[in-house]
Amino acid sequence: MNNKKRKEILFKIYSENFKFIKDNSSLKDNFDKGFGCFCPICLNYFVKEDLEAKVNPLTLEHNPPQSLGGKSSILTCKKCNSDAGHKIDNEILTALLEIDALHFKPNSEIKTQFYNESTDGKGVNAKIKIEEDGKFLINIDTKNNNPKIHKKFFDSEVQEYNSPLFINDISKSGWSKKLNFTFDKPNKTNERLASISLLKIAYLMAFEKLGHLYIFNKNTEIIREQIKHPEKEIIKNPFWITYQFPDNLLGVNIITKPRELRSILVIFNLKTKSDSYKISICLPGFSEGDEKIYENIKDILCQGNGFQNIEVNNYINSEYNIKDIEKTFRLVQFWESFVEKQ
Ligand SMILES: [Zn+2]
Repeated sequence: MNNKKRKEILFKIYSENFKFIKDNSSLKDNFDKGFGCFCPICLNYFVKEDLEAKVNPLTLEHNPPQSLGGKSSILTCKKCNSDAGHKIDNEILTALLEIDALHFKPNSEIKTQFYNESTDGKGVNAKIKIEEDGKFLINIDTKNNNPKIHKKFFDSEVQEYNSPLFINDISKSGWSKKLNFTFDKPNKTNERLASISLLKIAYLMAFEKLGHLYIFNKNTEIIREQIKHPEKEIIKNPFWITYQFPDNLLGVNIITKPRELRSILVIFNLKTKSDSYKISICLPGFSEGDEKIYENIKDILCQGNGFQNIEVNNYINSEYNIKDIEKTFRLVQFWESFVEKQ
């Protein structure tokens, strides 16, 4: 399916979602902007013409980012799409690629500097690549290096002789060359920004699944503020849970117990060439006080051994479908009649 068609389909799904909410609420009489939907980040309203507008059109948003295995699943406005992409989406990719490299996982690579006595503290630029089968390839080319340091580095190799009589592995016998060096771990990751890109992925997944009902929930204001201003520390506490939930909970869930941790729990995989990382992020629920979730995660899960029995409900994943327009308010009913009674 081409992008234009995909945008039109998503526009229709989310605009119908909003129309149902509008027609069945007080908005009915005082909202007259025509058939359309909201950008979940800036909350500006867009109509069909905005799909192809010259200024700030609606765009396909890959969530999670395409580089981490995400698909185009929702629409955001061009400004939000490129602002966030620019500021934070790349951070999580950098962070995960560094984790891959630090664990020497297959298909990962590290750009670094090698140091030994010959390099005078300056270091030679090098690339370490770990191949599919785990083999290491090290590339130190002349192009990216000062020729003098490059030469000195290779001149620092020492010759060694291993007699076949005294070693177990006969293939290592004879003369061999040896270069000693150290290198720094890569650390380009900005952990704070990387964590905000996780928050954004989770928030947009909740929107994808729940539609406008979720973004009109006033508890989510703080999430949007944090995504729009990643450089500010608006949410000070952790918003992730390090517990490894099972695969059948991938998607949007509800933590029902303990009460203090009641929240929307979004679980997703991010895929690099080397590995897959399962991430669990909490977002505020619909009740009064649910916006305190992040203080509670810190107080409950980051103290002592941090262990709690957490009850997770998968009603949203198993029952709720945004295309099922007539059932749009079922979530609110479920929340009031079940989640709040726990
Ligand atoms: Zn926007």
